[in-house]
Amino acid sequence: MNYRHAYHAGNFADVFKHVVLARIVEYLKRKEQAFRVIDTHAGIGRYDLEGTEAGKTAEWKQGIARLLDAASAGAIPPDAGALLAPYLEVIRAENPDGALKTYPGSPLVARSLMRKQDRLSAIELHPDDARTLSAPFAGDHQVRVIHLDGWLALGAHLPPKEKRGLVLVDPPFEKAGEFDRLVDGLVKGHKRFPGGTYALWYPVKDRQEVKRFASRLHETGIPKILRLELAIRAASPEPRLDGSGMIVVNPPYTLEDEMKLLLPCLTELLAEAKGASFTIEWVRREHVAT
Ligand code: SAM
Repeated sequence: MNYRHAYHAGNFADVFKHVVLARIVEYLKRKEQAFRVIDTHAGIGRYDLEGTEAGKTAEWKQGIARLLDAASAGAIPPDAGALLAPYLEVIRAENPDGALKTYPGSPLVARSLMRKQDRLSAIELHPDDARTLSAPFAGDHQVRVIHLDGWLALGAHLPPKEKRGLVLVDPPFEKAGEFDRLVDGLVKGHKRFPGGTYALWYPVKDRQEVKRFASRLHETGIPKILRLELAIRAASPEPRLDGSGMIVVNPPYTLEDEMKLLLPCLTELLAEAKGASFTIEWVRREHVAT
């Protein structure tokens, strides 16, 4: 387990992922009934952008820093700005003196947006990271930090007792086979909790592999699978993180239209070279007749 998210915290992929996460959580809040967020690969929760790891790559400067600058300059169209507001509020609350020094990971984004009846299960396998992740949630009865293999949680922790919620699966993609594990994990989780919303993160490095992933998802027969992608440049000749995607199963009915507003704006803001683009596409929209 060599992957350290601290090198990448706040980069374009985090911004895109956490914007989608925030939109889903905001939708879940429309009903009074409690929900649970299960974050199967939670990371350490809070990232120091002035720390050694973030300093080595400075990826956050092309990610969250650009978005915050655009928001402060009034350069975001009002309809997109309104949709980004809950996420940006979380970032600002983490940086109360105004200078961007800290970036909240997915468990903190989810927790900050939750109401008092909602719950978070934050799962992390790396023992040091699981320990670090416990600190911001000490004494918080709405959050359980669990040191566990997140793939197992897709069996053991589903369905949640609230019977509503979001499962975020954000693996590090440090070993081969992660796309297949995502499909198999989704099938396993969906059998136990078919009504849940699932958000699966994936890298766009090899576009053929992404195509195969989408066909495998289609073949599962699981209905209502939305694919969202943001590429910061055209495909590179060598494998490189040119973009990232989110597969959302059982998306809020509002999400597709929200992404039609947000993705053009985020793509323009986060582009690093010519050929930046976005995708909003149904892998499978409806139930399969049996
Ligand atoms: N979700 C986090 C966020 O958005 O802030 C970032 C997570 S990072 C991409 C992936 C994390 O998964 C790392 O912290 C890594 O230690 C952890 N991890 C790797 N394999 C795991 C597994 N099988 N189960 C749970 N966590 C795992």
